[in-house]
Amino acid sequence: MALTPAAGRFQSDEHGEMQGSIAAHLLDAAETDEEQALAHIRSCPSCSELARRLARAAAAVPLSVDQVEPPVDLRARILARCREARSPR
Ligand SMILES: [Zn+2]
Repeated sequence: MALTPAAGRFQSDEHGEMQGSIAAHLLDAAETDEEQALAHIRSCPSCSELARRLARAAAAVPLSVDQVEPPVDLRARILARCREARSPR
């Protein structure tokens, strides 16, 4: 399969599949085909660019929400609700 210098074209099926795998890999959600995805990123200019952009976006996710302390009684309230739900009516 020839790699054209301009767009880094692979067969479009493989390319589309890889983009999903790349996103999953960057979010630590990849389960399979990780080696294949990494090999594709290394050999495909447009996917390696996509990987760079997704990595930046993924790195920003934890910063995009305010960290909040849960209320001190949250655990007790949850457990109480569970007990309620389990008790026979
Ligand atoms: Zn690609």
